[in-house]
Amino acid sequence: MLDYLPLCFDVVNKPCLIVGGGTVALRKAVLLNKAQAKIDIIAPEVSPELHALSIASGGHVTQRAFNDRDVNDYWFVIAATNITDVNHRVASAANTARVLVNVVDTPERCDVIFPAIIDRSPLLISVSSSGSAPVLARSIRSKIESIAPANIGLLGDFIAERRQEVRCALDNDESRVRLFWETLLETEIAESVLVGQLAAASSLFKDFLIAYQAKRLIGEVYLVGAGPGDPDLLTFKALRLMQRADIVLYDRLVAPEIVDMTRRDAERIYVGKDRSNHTLPQQDINQLLIDLALAGKKVVRLKGGDPFIFGRGGEEIQGLAERNIPFQVVPGISAANGCACYSGIPLTHRDHAQSVRFVTGHLQDNSMDLPWSELVADSQTVVIYMGLTGLEFICDQLILHGQSPETPIALIERGTTPDHKAHIGTLSTINAIVSGQTVKAPTLIIIGSVVGLHNSLKGSYSTE
Ligand code: SAH
Repeated sequence: MLDYLPLCFDVVNKPCLIVGGGTVALRKAVLLNKAQAKIDIIAPEVSPELHALSIASGGHVTQRAFNDRDVNDYWFVIAATNITDVNHRVASAANTARVLVNVVDTPERCDVIFPAIIDRSPLLISVSSSGSAPVLARSIRSKIESIAPANIGLLGDFIAERRQEVRCALDNDESRVRLFWETLLETEIAESVLVGQLAAASSLFKDFLIAYQAKRLIGEVYLVGAGPGDPDLLTFKALRLMQRADIVLYDRLVAPEIVDMTRRDAERIYVGKDRSNHTLPQQDINQLLIDLALAGKKVVRLKGGDPFIFGRGGEEIQGLAERNIPFQVVPGISAANGCACYSGIPLTHRDHAQSVRFVTGHLQDNSMDLPWSELVADSQTVVIYMGLTGLEFICDQLILHGQSPETPIALIERGTTPDHKAHIGTLSTINAIVSGQTVKAPTLIIIGSVVGLHNSLKGSYSTE
C-alpha cells in the first residue's frame, strides 16, 4: 500500500495561492516560482522579497486576513502562516472547494506534500518519507545528490534532442529504441556529455547510431585507479564505471572489497602481478584488453593506486589507442597520497619540504639505478614505491651520498587498509627497527623531515 501517489505536477502559468507572508511562505514561493506557477499571496503582512516574487511570477498580493472563499479557482493552495488555526481553516476551505492543499509542517492536513528534490533539470529526482521523517528523506537526497553527476541534466537534454532521430533510424521499433538508449547510457558518449564535451559526444553519437543500425558494436575499456586499499577512497567515477562492467581485470594490489563493488554479474579475471611472479605477462594483459573490447565487452581494468603512477597504465592503453578502441583512464589516489595522509605525514610543508619526488626502488639484478645525489636534499620529500627489499641499500646509498643518517624515514605497510602500520625511524635505525618483524607487502617508503611530524598530525582515522 502506498500512503501517497507520486506525481509530477505541471503548474506552469497556473494560478496558485500561498496564504502567509513570512519566510516559510517565501520558501514555498521560491519553489513554485521555479516551477513557473503564477503565485498569489494573501496575508496581512507580506515580506518585500515575497511581494516581489509574486509580482514577478505574474501573480498578485492581497494584504488582508484570509477568508474561506479565497481558495476558489486555484489549482493549488499552500497554508504557510504561523497561526495553526488559520492554516487549518485554509485546509478545510480547500477541501470543500476540492482544491489541492498543502499545510506546511502538518502532513495530516495535506492532500499533497513536498518531497525532497534533486534538481538536474530536465531530470528531477524526488525523495519522500510520506511525511513521516523528512530528515531521512533529506539525508537520502544528499546521498543521491553526491552520486548523480552535476551535468546529468545536460544528458537529459542531449537525449531529448535526439529521440526523434533515433526513433526514425530504428524504424519505430520500440524495444530496439529502448535498448539503444540503455546501451548509449553506458558508453563513452554519455561520459562525454557528463564532462561537458558536447561536440565530441555528438560526433560519437552519429557513429554509434550507424554502428547500432548495422549491429556492429565494439566495447570499451576503462582503466580505473582503485586507490591504495581503503574502498572509501574510490572516486564516484570509478564506482560508476565499475557498475557497468561486463568484465573486470584485477591484480593483487586491488583489495577484494573493491573488486566486489563491480557489477554483480561481471566476469572477474585475476591477472596476478606479484613483484617477481607475474601471473600474466604484461603483453598478455594488454592483448586481453584489446581482444575483450573487440568482442564488444565493457572492460574495467582495476589498477592499484593511480593507473599512471608506476602502474604501466600507459602501456595498457597504447594498443587500444592504436586500434581506435574507446577507453577512459580514471585517476586514483596513489599509495603516496593515501599512506601519507593516513600516517599524518604531509608530503610537503612550508617549514620542511618544498618538493616531493616519487621514485621506484624496484630491484633489477639486485641493483638500483637511482639518481642518488638528486635524492639528497634537505627540503625535499622522497617517496619510494616498491622499495622494501632494497631498504637497506637505499639507506646506505643516501648516507653515502651525503644525506644525514638522522633523516626521518617511514616504512608504511598496507597503507589505508585496516592493517595499516607505519614503522618510523631514521636512515640509520630503520633496518634494525623492521628486521625483527614480518613486514607485509605492499609497503611504501617516505623519507624526509616531514616524517617527523607524524606523531603530532596523526588523524583519528589512523590505525596505529
Ligand atoms: N599505481 C600504484 C603503484 C603501483 S606499484 C599507485 O599509484 O599507488 C606498487 C607499489 O605501490 C607497491 O610495491 C608499494 O610500494 C606501493 N603501494 C601500493 N599500495 C600500497 C599500500 N596500500 N600501502 C603501501 N604501499 C603501497
